[in-house]
Amino acid sequence: MRIDVLTLFPEMFDVFDYSLMGKAQEKQLFTLVRHNIRDYSADKHKRCDDYPFGGGAGMVMMPQPIHDCIEAVDPEHKALRIYMSPRGKTLTQKKVAELSQCDRLLILCGHYEGVDQRVIDADIDCEISVGDYVLSGGEIPAMVLIDSVARYIPDVLGNSQATVEESFSDNLLEYPQYTRPQEFNGMKVPEVLVSGNHAMVDKWRREQSHEITRKLRPDLLDKGEL
Ligand code: SAH
Repeated sequence: MRIDVLTLFPEMFDVFDYSLMGKAQEKQLFTLVRHNIRDYSADKHKRCDDYPFGGGAGMVMMPQPIHDCIEAVDPEHKALRIYMSPRGKTLTQKKVAELSQCDRLLILCGHYEGVDQRVIDADIDCEISVGDYVLSGGEIPAMVLIDSVARYIPDVLGNSQATVEESFSDNLLEYPQYTRPQEFNGMKVPEVLVSGNHAMVDKWRREQSHEITRKLRPDLLDKGEL
């Protein structure tokens, strides 16, 4: 998969040089290409924002640099073009799994008060939000999207079961996890996990998943599929 991210702050995406994502890029399991929208500004001072028509607080990102950047990066419209936006559909694990099937994603990060509506109308396929709160820029939301989607690319996690069993698959939260030591500060690991009986372990985990979901996120159970 190739992901192009369009931003005024490409350095922020250095987080993907680390850990699992860094390794996945080294192995070329996916490619993240950062583009600085400012490089496409036709203005002699490379300006990318201006005052909103009609007045109001803050600045709005101008359409020209964004449009030209999108045209240069994806001239044949091969990518699914996403604008990170608080008014978009909220990102869910189901949507993440769906997006992981795409060959190419193009992600536009807004900043300041957002971007000129005309570029959204003309060049963007969908708007995605990371939750009902407002952040100062689309970069952190884009990182959330990229990280969650990249985990679904085969071999990125090293264990293909990992995305099948974890929280939100089947609308359930994950069961509790334990590692060594078997006893820590007087607290023991549940007996069944060290019993060597895989069927019992599976059953225990399923029951725990249901119980934890019922306790912490009953709304997930209401979504059905059980
Ligand atoms: N004035 C806008 C908010 C702009 S926030 C409004 O009231 O809707 C600046 C940028 O941050 C946005 O353009 C968007 O790209 C990003 N952003 C902020 N909150 C977000 C969220 N919850 N999900 C996705 N992107 C978000």
